[in-house]
Amino acid sequence: MVDQQAFVTCATNDTYALGALVLAHSLRNVQTTRKLAIIVTPQVTNKIRSLLGNVFDLIKVVDVLDSKDEANLTLLTRPELGVTFTKFHCWRLTQFQKCVFLDADILVVQNCDELFDREELSAVPDVGWPDCFNSGVFVFQPNEETYSAIIKFAIQNGSFDGGDQGVLNMFFKDWRTADISRHLSFIYNMNANATYSYQPAYKQFGKDVKIVHFLGHIKPWMQMYNSETGRVQPDSPHSFEHLQLWWDLFMRQVQPNLTEECSGIAGELSKLQIGPIAPGSSAFIQSSEARRYAWERGQVDYMGADAFSNIEKKLQESIEGSKK
Ligand code: UDP
Ligand code: MN
Repeated sequence: MVDQQAFVTCATNDTYALGALVLAHSLRNVQTTRKLAIIVTPQVTNKIRSLLGNVFDLIKVVDVLDSKDEANLTLLTRPELGVTFTKFHCWRLTQFQKCVFLDADILVVQNCDELFDREELSAVPDVGWPDCFNSGVFVFQPNEETYSAIIKFAIQNGSFDGGDQGVLNMFFKDWRTADISRHLSFIYNMNANATYSYQPAYKQFGKDVKIVHFLGHIKPWMQMYNSETGRVQPDSPHSFEHLQLWWDLFMRQVQPNLTEECSGIAGELSKLQIGPIAPGSSAFIQSSEARRYAWERGQVDYMGADAFSNIEKKLQESIEGSKK
């Protein structure tokens, strides 16, 4: 029985796969008795797939763009739905009777295996619009017919928010009113900024939280991290406490196994070294994508990577490159 139940996540690139690795380790750390499964696309590199294989029981590679079905025909005209359609593949994991989907930007902080007592479709109200559920955490039952029905529905109706949450809320439309047992407690999908947005409630109920979701544009892997002190930069929409938990787990259980073969932020973070720093270099390490976010937020690392001499060098390289 327990063998036929799984936590499922999804990653379409090495960067989201970092999140999936942290998520999977967090589930193992709280001693889940359920299986762990992940849906990936061909873009995820072999190196990352081998790391995923060490912690997940099942890796399912799906290539929505390669299929000859209706979904593929739609994607050819609407490529922005690609990630969304990949996530829907979770309904095809029919080797399991019941599953709990978790986004890759989630950290599990306490055992939550009791979620498998719930029925499809159970989820937590979305903080932005509580009549909708947030699709970062949901209980579902794999079934090929449901999969086809969702794809068909998505093709006919599109998504009002451009993502899977819009489609799933319209497909499971009666979630809002039909059965209160399908409404899960906020402790199963706490937005990591709730500690700031409703502090008294966090003080009262925070110790009960089991699942933390870093939803929004800024993900933990984009955060600045001080390699000398092992502390994450507190400037973030997410709570420092939870970001630090994510980074502690990442540095302990994921980062040591990364190599430069990994692509995106995963490749960049493979070079991170903890401990005393060389004179003249910056203690804060972050990926280039994270650095771009910092720039946009007005934090410029004048002495380090963004120093004028480095910018000048980069410009020179671009000029040289374009002459060739
Ligand atoms: N996802 C992915 N690749 C992407 C974007 C999203 O694999 O480029 C998957 C991943 O599992 C992610 C989920 O889709 O957690 C939902 O996206 P995200 O968490 O970024 O949305 P948010 O929760 O911020 O609305
Ligand atoms: Mn998410």
